[in-house]
Amino acid sequence: MLMEPIPYFAFRDFPVGSEAAVQQALLQAVAGKSYILGKELKHFEEAYAGYLGAKAAVGVGNGYDALVLALKAVGVGPGDEVVLPVHTFIATINAVLQVGAKPVLVEPDTKTCNITAATVAPAVTASTKAIVPVHLYGQVCEMGPLLQLARAHNLRIVEDAAQAHGARYENKFAGTFGDAGAFSFYPTKNLGALGDAGAVVTNDEAIAQFVQMYRNYGEAQKYRSEVVGVNSRLDELQAAVLRVKLQNLDQLNAERQRLAAIYKEELQGTEELVLPVTAPGCGHVYHIFSIRTRRREALQQWLRVQGIYTAVHYPVPVHLQPAYRFLGHKAGDFPVAEELAQTSLSLPLFPGLKQHEQERVVDMVRKFFR
Ligand SMILES: *Cc1c(COP(=O)(O)O)cnc(C)c1O
Repeated sequence: MLMEPIPYFAFRDFPVGSEAAVQQALLQAVAGKSYILGKELKHFEEAYAGYLGAKAAVGVGNGYDALVLALKAVGVGPGDEVVLPVHTFIATINAVLQVGAKPVLVEPDTKTCNITAATVAPAVTASTKAIVPVHLYGQVCEMGPLLQLARAHNLRIVEDAAQAHGARYENKFAGTFGDAGAFSFYPTKNLGALGDAGAVVTNDEAIAQFVQMYRNYGEAQKYRSEVVGVNSRLDELQAAVLRVKLQNLDQLNAERQRLAAIYKEELQGTEELVLPVTAPGCGHVYHIFSIRTRRREALQQWLRVQGIYTAVHYPVPVHLQPAYRFLGHKAGDFPVAEELAQTSLSLPLFPGLKQHEQERVVDMVRKFFR
């Protein structure tokens, strides 16, 4: 009997009725006939800031722009060094390069896969201007010690919270610890639009105002340019979708956490398999459920033959990508990140994944190691 393939990710109607609600919101926004910088955006920005307990959320075109604008807003530019993880999606380093700063890559913690004060501290120099903690896979970095380190050296913090909507560290939300937090609402993110979208979140009025201006050509008011800005606006249709989906964010994250707990329970004790580890106080919303094994290629191939699709986050660490050769790194410079690149495998985990599907993934992973 041929089994239905199990996708790595799929858009499903979870919770049931949410697709219809999104379509309804879209129709309403279309009927509103105001498509850029209108009331839908304003409502979403207020709702998202309110949800996170932050002073302001400013909608922008995508997560990359959110990082770039946040870095600019906190004053990062040419001559500055910015410390960021080597184990991340390339958007993080590209944003640092875009503002003309020098990226300084650091290793993640072996267990959590996130950077920590301990891995960042040795990289801080007199030229360091900012740290960009990435809450990778949906787990918040250990922010307490990172904030202390930043304070001690007068460094700005811009959080890359693109994978961590609604994740908490000691009862505060990812994206609200530093000077600014950058979010992506790419469709597959925990809070996703139906296209590109992003936001900068901050408790600093001046940073919010700068991003509001900069995203709209630098205009403080119509035809009055204060800075040379760009066009990076979050449009009304996406804002309308996001506002509706935000109402389900906690439920979506709870479902991801439920699925993650099942994977952890069912796969624990499997020899040669390292399961995700959370640090004390660090919430995890499982944007990605990444396991580790030295037999990654074989496991992925075996699952593929069973019709189970997986992903690798990320197969080539930033410092070994051709595009970043100019940074002067070589294989061996970041052994932890290189090991992660070779051993990580992300299992299917998304709201709407069915019980029989997850059971089959578990069975087949177990079978491979038996
Ligand atoms: C998705 C993502 C981004 C970029 O978001 P886009 O909206 O695709 O530009 C940045 N950083 C991380 C860690 C991401 O996962």
